[in-house]
Amino acid sequence: MGAPGQRPLATMSRATAEVVVCGAGIAGIATAYHLTVRRGMSGVVLVDERPPLSLTSDKSTECYRNWWPGPGDAMVALMNRSIDLLEDLARESDNVFRLNRRGYLFVTADPERVPQFVRAAEEAAALGAGPVRHHQTPASDYQPAPADAFEGQPTGSDVITDPSLIRRHFPYLADETIALLHARRCGWFSGQQLGMYLLERAREKGARLIEGRVEAIDTTGGRVREVTVRGAAGGTMTLSTPRFVDAAGPFVAQVGRLLGVELPVFCERHAKVALNDTLGVVPRHAPMMIWTDPLRLPWSDEEHAELARSDAHRYLLEPFPAGVHGRPEGGGDSPVVLLIWTYDTEPVEAVFPIQFDPAHGEIVLRAMSRMLPGLSAYLTRLPRCFVDGGYYTKTRENRFLAGPLPVEGAYVIGGLSGYGLMASNGAADLLADHITGRSLPHYAPAFQLERYADPAYVALLGRWGNSGQL
Ligand SMILES: Cc1cc2nc3c(=O)[nH]c(=O)nc-3n(C[C@H](O)[C@H](O)[C@H](O)COP(=O)(O)OP(=O)(O)OC[C@H]3O[C@@H](n4cnc5c(N)ncnc54)[C@H](O)[C@@H]3O)c2cc1C
Repeated sequence: MGAPGQRPLATMSRATAEVVVCGAGIAGIATAYHLTVRRGMSGVVLVDERPPLSLTSDKSTECYRNWWPGPGDAMVALMNRSIDLLEDLARESDNVFRLNRRGYLFVTADPERVPQFVRAAEEAAALGAGPVRHHQTPASDYQPAPADAFEGQPTGSDVITDPSLIRRHFPYLADETIALLHARRCGWFSGQQLGMYLLERAREKGARLIEGRVEAIDTTGGRVREVTVRGAAGGTMTLSTPRFVDAAGPFVAQVGRLLGVELPVFCERHAKVALNDTLGVVPRHAPMMIWTDPLRLPWSDEEHAELARSDAHRYLLEPFPAGVHGRPEGGGDSPVVLLIWTYDTEPVEAVFPIQFDPAHGEIVLRAMSRMLPGLSAYLTRLPRCFVDGGYYTKTRENRFLAGPLPVEGAYVIGGLSGYGLMASNGAADLLADHITGRSLPHYAPAFQLERYADPAYVALLGRWGNSGQL
């Protein structure tokens, strides 16, 4: 079923376009916005077989951060540009998508992680994320983040190692917490509101949205000539166009094959858990909180004995990886808390609807109670957990693709992994520069498909290290 204003195809028809963008997720919509509104391009046609923003882009936790590891400063520079654009959009729209700047709070109870926090903060500063402030005494001038404002906030990070400062500002964290790293150019926003805002602005400037599936692309002579779109009612439209953008999210590789191009991406299944925190354990003003230590799930003695007897469930007694995280969601009286944890990252085929482990909500809630002990109150009588999610579509090193493909007139914007909402404006701005032949920012090569043809880059992949995934 299409969205209001999305044109269904009933018969056979022909039309022309300057550029056809396949996919009206956040990547395709941001591309249409940057081409029409910011580059003045006409003849932009978005094609999607689903309503806009309904496949992956509405499953996100909607967070953003300029907090990314190397090698090189490409990710930080790209994200800083993307966040600059988000802030501009928030200002011009009276913050219709509720951008905040609460930060990401990395939490540890492991003394060995403290020097790692300091090193990560220094590395981030060197890459351009902003300065480090180390708070080691009770009188240190740590400035907590406001709940809603995003203007006039610090960048970089605060490393807090004084116990009384930790207790004063974050009394809801586990007593064993010994250090915090508060990354500051980070927060969250409504992805749906952002996407609809960009789509409306693009449509005001002439972008058209067509409902249908891109089924074939004529590339006779090695260049884009025609795109064939089939509608749900069986009708087809042939669009004569010199340019095509593959923004097909989890299907970006399949659509790439229509061009005869193999894209080096794969999918991981990621779930998000939402529950009503009726006891008010998570303060409504809290930042995004990430537990950085591996953990074991808490069980009563009875539960422990029962799990130990079950071949199918014994794994629940094993150590689980670091990284469970979550945040409060919604304004006003909302009791909703979102939790997310990627303890299983096997590559899978993208199939819809997605199935999730029925125990996922409970596993994540148990893990989160390590960082927020107040959540233990829910473990004897579990609240209803709503689990949904989608696929992270990724390259091997977790850096997206935005740039030309080896067929004249063909481009890609994809592989946006678990950061596509925060990166979409930066990535689409970059792609629009490619398409309109403008000069490119210094980080452009880091996101081109061509990088895999460089032997030095391929060698670097072998020793890559941290991919920045949470
Ligand atoms: C659980 C979870 C949490 C996340 N949290 C965050 C977060 O906190 N912050 C963040 O920035 N990102 C987050 N992400 C990632 C973010 O949601 C994605 O990176 C982003 O939505 C990808 O957008 P997209 O436009 O590439 O893909 P999609 O939104 O999937 O859009 C692709 C579109 O292409 C269309 N399409 C595909 N093939 C065809 C075809 N042949 N013809 C016509 N149409 C086609 C599809 O119908 C779809 O609408 C999260 C993702 C998940 C799953």
